[in-house]
Amino acid sequence: MTFASVVLDIPTRALDAAFDYAVPAALEAEAAAEASSCSGSLVGCTVLVPFSHRHVVGYVVALSSEPPAGIDPSKILEVERILASSAFDEASAEVARWIAREYSCPLCEAIRPFLAPGQTVKVRRASDADPWELVCEKSGPVDERWVSLTEAASSFEPRANASKQRAVLSALSGGPMRVVELSATLPGSAATVTSLERKGVVSVERRRRVRGQDATSLSSATAARPEHLTAGQREALCAIDAACESASGDVVVVDGVTGSGKTEVYLEAIERVRSRGGSALVLVPEISLTAQTVGRFRSRFGDDVAILHSRLSAGERFDQWDLARSGQAHVVVGARSALFAPLADLGLVIIDEEHEASYKQDSAPRYHAREVAARICRERGCALVLGSATPSLESLERCRAREWGGVTWTRVCMPERPGGATLPEVSVVDMTEQFASGRKHMFSKPLADALLDVARRREKAVLLLNRRGFANFLMCRECGAVPECPHCSTSLTYHERTHSLVCHSCERSWPIGTPGSPMRCPSCNSPYLGAYGVGTQQVETALADLLADADVTVVRMDADTTKGKGEHQRRLEEFDAAESAVLVGTQMIAKGLDFPQVTLVGVINADTTLKMPDFRAAERTFDLLEQVAGRAGRGERAGRVIIQSYWAGHPAIQAVRTHDRDLFVTSELAERRDGNYPPFSRLANVLCWGRSESDVRRVLDGVAAELRSRTEGRPGWEVLGPAECLKSRVKDRFRRHILVKAPVGEELGPVLDACVRAQDKPRGVNVAIDVDAYDMM
Ligand code: ADP
Ligand code: ZN
Ligand code: ZN
Repeated sequence: MTFASVVLDIPTRALDAAFDYAVPAALEAEAAAEASSCSGSLVGCTVLVPFSHRHVVGYVVALSSEPPAGIDPSKILEVERILASSAFDEASAEVARWIAREYSCPLCEAIRPFLAPGQTVKVRRASDADPWELVCEKSGPVDERWVSLTEAASSFEPRANASKQRAVLSALSGGPMRVVELSATLPGSAATVTSLERKGVVSVERRRRVRGQDATSLSSATAARPEHLTAGQREALCAIDAACESASGDVVVVDGVTGSGKTEVYLEAIERVRSRGGSALVLVPEISLTAQTVGRFRSRFGDDVAILHSRLSAGERFDQWDLARSGQAHVVVGARSALFAPLADLGLVIIDEEHEASYKQDSAPRYHAREVAARICRERGCALVLGSATPSLESLERCRAREWGGVTWTRVCMPERPGGATLPEVSVVDMTEQFASGRKHMFSKPLADALLDVARRREKAVLLLNRRGFANFLMCRECGAVPECPHCSTSLTYHERTHSLVCHSCERSWPIGTPGSPMRCPSCNSPYLGAYGVGTQQVETALADLLADADVTVVRMDADTTKGKGEHQRRLEEFDAAESAVLVGTQMIAKGLDFPQVTLVGVINADTTLKMPDFRAAERTFDLLEQVAGRAGRGERAGRVIIQSYWAGHPAIQAVRTHDRDLFVTSELAERRDGNYPPFSRLANVLCWGRSESDVRRVLDGVAAELRSRTEGRPGWEVLGPAECLKSRVKDRFRRHILVKAPVGEELGPVLDACVRAQDKPRGVNVAIDVDAYDMM
């Protein structure tokens, strides 16, 4: 007899354990016979099991031939049926267990990302007569019917009045067609096909359609393989080979400036893994998953690539996922969630732009793709490659330590672009000087002149508008100062409703002045203190003004203009196709674009991310500026970058100007060490929200008290708060939070979990635990 350990799909903290069920022989045979299975057994299957007088969906995480200890085998209930074939194997189940523990979430939530996209099954209570029914998203495989002529067709002569038959036969003379296509061009032809099929003149067969295999029309998408690898590329590949060989989950950080040929390294490394019969997984940030990136992988590996991202429909996602599971594709390129794709014989995981905050999932399970990838690689004995022009401080610290989390971390630098393409010249325009000299336009004199030059030379430019966290600050237009809390080094946030400035580190607040006596700049006493912000549309208008006499295409890309399916792509193609053009956009244009004709990159407002109340604010600003600067001068013509800033002297901005990252990293690491922030500690955010402010307060005060009593006296642990969140009220829910710091290497998840479990939560109060939090607003 076989026994299955089943995790029930009931996401309450109390029902977290796996339950044991007996597996009837027939079900075991059914699972083993399933061709498209990840584990070749019942492990990874979605099953229906009885549980306390009802039926519940569950996931099999392990099998055993021994009955569970201490239970009479005859009392063990049976698995009732298999609802979906295996989507993961034992190693993945192990990773899911780790996710649940590390990020403090119910085990079933940690398993869900491993399931086939759009195949979630739920049990719903139906009528009294029929106590339950299954609800299933419908996105399984799609079959299509194809019609083609048989050999008998050549000697078949339709009757004189059978004009429909003639039309169908003539349409098919060019080759097989889909029935739906035929019906669209020849209405009513489906019936004709049936009668011709009966006569043996045509045959109809079902073919599996794979959704989501779109072609691309971008010019640079089919990049050729370079003749020689650069020294940096060879060194990186050497390190990756060694990591593959050690088969223990070793990590290689490819620290290469933009355009240094990191993608080329990935392609080559994947090729080597494939030639050894292995498969590879590549994660890229969602917004850089453009046809351009996809095209480079497709042009090298053809149909061996499956693509997974959120702009695909559920059906497309399923088909792409299934290409990996069925072994038809050995390379998966996708966004964060592609990490869970069921690739057999995984040999290599690559995370491009590993510093990106979007690798942290902001809903349960709140995992970080980098950490989960490291875990997967250890579990499966494969290599992990982290690529970036601006590696995260976390990764840099681990490389410095060499050994971290039981594996070796190696950093390889690629400081040069191949073929002599030079890094762009970066200049910083001090906007306070521009303002002082009377120029109040959003384009400084140098930027306006450079844009006109681009138009004259028929080249292309990219203009970045940094939009994050903008209007929340008051800024002095004369000296660029942003009022800061005298007790914390945190910028004060402007709250319009209460007309006050608030510090979100210590929760002190100050009134902002009255109409008769406005607040003045704390540094220069100027009255020009205001919330200041522009949108991409205003930039577009200003640009149209500036370039009124030049024939230049202006393409705008932001959340509004790229909502529709394919819009993102269409706009990039428009920019690509134009003779001379300016691309105006938000953060989404900073990454992955490789257009050789771009000779100018302008950053309209470099500073907005710098003053965010977030310890990573400077790092994010530096990353963004480096990224966007890297869009310039990728072709033969040299590029230049103009950054407009009110804080021109900030290390993050100076480091971009001088191409000297150490300048930034050194000053930033010193600040992080001082404040006991990551990478020198771990940080978690415990968020509580609900309609009743007093309930929220009571619950979170309880959690904080519990946390303090459990961590009292433990070196390196700090409990900050509870305090109101920066977004103190969202959708009528009050939001408060606690920040918890712990020494690196300590397990935060189980501690936080125990403290939250210990509280009684009234209805309508929610608590979320976010370990290694990125968004603390
Ligand atoms: P990154 O991913 O670091 O931004 P890419 O891999 O996109 O860099 O490379 C930048 C450009 O340089 C691409 O157009 C690529 O085809 C080209 N390239 C990469 N490696 C080489 C090489 N060894 N020799 C010549 N050109 C190369
Ligand atoms: Zn001032
Ligand atoms: Zn403060």
